[in-house]
Amino acid sequence: MFETQGAKSRSVLISGASIAGPALAYWLDRYGFDVTVVERAAAIRSGGYPIDVRGTAIDVVERMGVLSQLQAAHIHTRRLTFVDADGNPIAAIAPEDLSGGAAGRDIELPRGELTSVLYDLTRDREVRYRFDDSIDALEDDGAGVDVRFRSGAEQRFDIAIGADGMHSNTRALAFGPEAPFNRYLGFCFNLFSLPNDLGLSHEAVVYAEPGRLAGVYAVGDSRTLHAFLNFATDEPPFHSNTDLDKQRQRTAEIFGGGGWIIRRLVAAMQRADDLFFDTVSQIHMPRWSSGRVALVGDAAHAPSFLSGQGSSLALVGAYVLAGELAAHADPVDAFASYERIARPFMEANQALASREGGSLLMPRTPEELDARNATLAAMQASGEAPSHSEGSGQAHNSLRLPDYVSWLHEERRK
Ligand SMILES: Cc1cc2nc3c(=O)[nH]c(=O)nc-3n(C[C@H](O)[C@H](O)[C@H](O)COP(=O)(O)OP(=O)(O)OC[C@H]3O[C@@H](n4cnc5c(N)ncnc54)[C@H](O)[C@@H]3O)c2cc1C
Repeated sequence: MFETQGAKSRSVLISGASIAGPALAYWLDRYGFDVTVVERAAAIRSGGYPIDVRGTAIDVVERMGVLSQLQAAHIHTRRLTFVDADGNPIAAIAPEDLSGGAAGRDIELPRGELTSVLYDLTRDREVRYRFDDSIDALEDDGAGVDVRFRSGAEQRFDIAIGADGMHSNTRALAFGPEAPFNRYLGFCFNLFSLPNDLGLSHEAVVYAEPGRLAGVYAVGDSRTLHAFLNFATDEPPFHSNTDLDKQRQRTAEIFGGGGWIIRRLVAAMQRADDLFFDTVSQIHMPRWSSGRVALVGDAAHAPSFLSGQGSSLALVGAYVLAGELAAHADPVDAFASYERIARPFMEANQALASREGGSLLMPRTPEELDARNATLAAMQASGEAPSHSEGSGQAHNSLRLPDYVSWLHEERRK
């Protein structure tokens, strides 16, 4: 296996061990960097909602040697059924007809399974993990980054990378508060689980009223369903994810009197011990690095789940960032090159989700709901994806990955 010799002295701290973090750790370790990952949670989190790996990201996981392992974990969702207030089907379509993905090539799997595969790859190597810890302070003096951890430990690193998600702690420390970078798309979501007593298997069922969307997702034959209650609001309640009880109450009020099984879902949401509430937002930053600190994945350019591309972007960003760090002695040059290569791809994929484009998934008005139903009925009748999905496929595949491994071999031979 390829290893560089010269870079071993370069130490990198990565904050976050979900998708971007372990993927970056894998590549940096392979290129000979000394890698530490700090993760706030006490351990790698398994399970979770389904995410997608598609387009250019498939090439990344193939180069990591885990494509067949991920293909084996593919959950084979057969259909998304859109129902009316009485539960009668309006249309049932294949998931890739909505996402613009490629059936037979895209992989859909629980987020925690992807994380576990990536984590296992790095565990066999020399990557160190600090679980149940977080960066409290970082000081970049131009020659290195002094880090103080919440645990009280202090350490100096050559480079620090934030792979800690949309509400990145590293971004807050190096770039300031999130608000100027958060582009709110007009929706909030509640995600929680409930027992699968609807007999669903390999499928999702979705019900919409103007400004309200409810659904359940059966991953394989799981006895648990992932459920969501999403609603449109112009006023983003940015602070309510710190007060879940208020959020439960607000969601219950918003969904009061809804059709289908909404009453049951609201009751399950109120009992759920795994409720996750957030705004549907993107992260847009004029720069992804500052000195010796850079961001990757959702921390840098979250595209929102409306794009279905967050995990793929995290994998591709990690691949390019690691390769550019290996190819440049100066991290500032590496970060500039990473951004030049990756930014057009990230922006093309972020553009797949917008306030306007959300109307197929989350219609806001009776007119949008009627238009959505007409589109779904046409899709079902013709068996064809809507016209926008061709553009999605192009965005998913719009980056040709540099071959860093061959390039570095070549450099060493010179
Ligand atoms: C409801 C929902 C549905 C989604 N659906 C899809 C989908 O269908 N398809 C798709 O591709 N993507 C989907 N996504 C998006 C996808 O989950 C993210 O884009 C992807 O996980 C980004 O990976 P990441 O590693 O950059 O960040 P994250 O997965 O957000 O991971 C961040 C990590 O950093 C850790 N962390 C946070 N703060 C700190 C701290 N202070 N110190 C140390 N560690 C910290 C967290 O614990 C976590 O492990 C969805 C997201 C949500 C919320």
